Amino acid sequence: MVTGGAGFLGSHLCEQLLRHGISVICLDNFLTGTPANIAHLIGEPRFRLIKCDVTDFVHVPGPVDLVLHLASAASPADYLRLPIETLKVGSLGTLHVLGLAGEKGARFVLASTSEVYGDPQQHPQSEQYWGNVNPVGPRSVYDEAKRYAEALTTAYRMSRGTDTTIVRIFNTYGPRMRPDDGRAIPTFIRQALVGEPLSVTGDGSQTRSVCYVDDTIRGILALAESDAPGPVNIGGPLELPVAELARTIIELSGLPGSIRHIERPVDDPRVRRPDTTLAQELLGWEPTVQLRDGLARTIAWFRSQLATATLAHAAPTRRPAPLAALPLRPCQGDTPG
Ligand code: NAD
Repeated sequence: MVTGGAGFLGSHLCEQLLRHGISVICLDNFLTGTPANIAHLIGEPRFRLIKCDVTDFVHVPGPVDLVLHLASAASPADYLRLPIETLKVGSLGTLHVLGLAGEKGARFVLASTSEVYGDPQQHPQSEQYWGNVNPVGPRSVYDEAKRYAEALTTAYRMSRGTDTTIVRIFNTYGPRMRPDDGRAIPTFIRQALVGEPLSVTGDGSQTRSVCYVDDTIRGILALAESDAPGPVNIGGPLELPVAELARTIIELSGLPGSIRHIERPVDDPRVRRPDTTLAQELLGWEPTVQLRDGLARTIAWFRSQLATATLAHAAPTRRPAPLAALPLRPCQGDTPG
């Protein structure tokens, strides 16, 4: 079972699990994900979609042996727009999904985030670092929701014996990110492709470490297959300034591009780099996709999406019937789609 399975990471996870012959139940309310991400899986006999909100009651019939809990707004633009929904899915949603994992005797994987480290005072960030989060800053709706979800997951493990683990995911990029989700890479790529200046926040010297989606998914699944309790960092250890990321995207797009500096958001972390020693030791995991390769693949995907959008605009009658129009229902296991 994958919650948030119609999102960026969730849809890649569903796809990988199906590729390994595993049956998948995807739970999503399409709050920030899009039906287009999983439309190609509809009709696949081992794939079931349940459109529901996991902050409501969650029940699915039949056996479930693995629960991957990814449901949550994840990009700053989304969680700042959806503060209460983000806190609810991290708290109530996690509570319900943990309850289901316990009832089914399933292993539970919480998709946590490098944001639990906040604006870190330890660099790079290892799993032992407790973080530096402002509990009343604008980003706290996401950071604290995830910190609470980690605490809840740990409590289920310690007091109920539920088989849980926690993956702290660092910035991941790749096909199926939304061009308008506000994260640096999709924003830069969209701007480069449509001929807008790339909006770099501050002077662009703040750093990010990014990981290509295939590597992140391989890391999450390796942790799911292990018996490690976590938390385990999964992310790209190559750290680079945001301005350099923008310049690389301009170069790889093959188009003339320029950079425009805009104000940095409140509590934006200055540095971010995972210590991935634990993932290497426990899971034998390390990223393999080079930054330029991953960016080139992502740019190619965005280019194809822009072309499709232009075509669809020209011929609107050829668009598929929207899955988003499915009725929202309690998570009880019937399968519209
Ligand atoms: P996303 O927004 O693309 O996907 C999240 C999915 O959850 C969406 O499909 C959304 O509709 C669904 N969802 C939200 N609230 C829901 C609810 N109440 N009930 C059912 N479904 C709900 O985001 P993503 O980038 O794919 O992130 C997935 C997970 O990974 C999140 O938990 C996020 O915190 C974590 N994560 C992602 C990254 C990253 O770089 N992408 C980094 C760190 C952590």
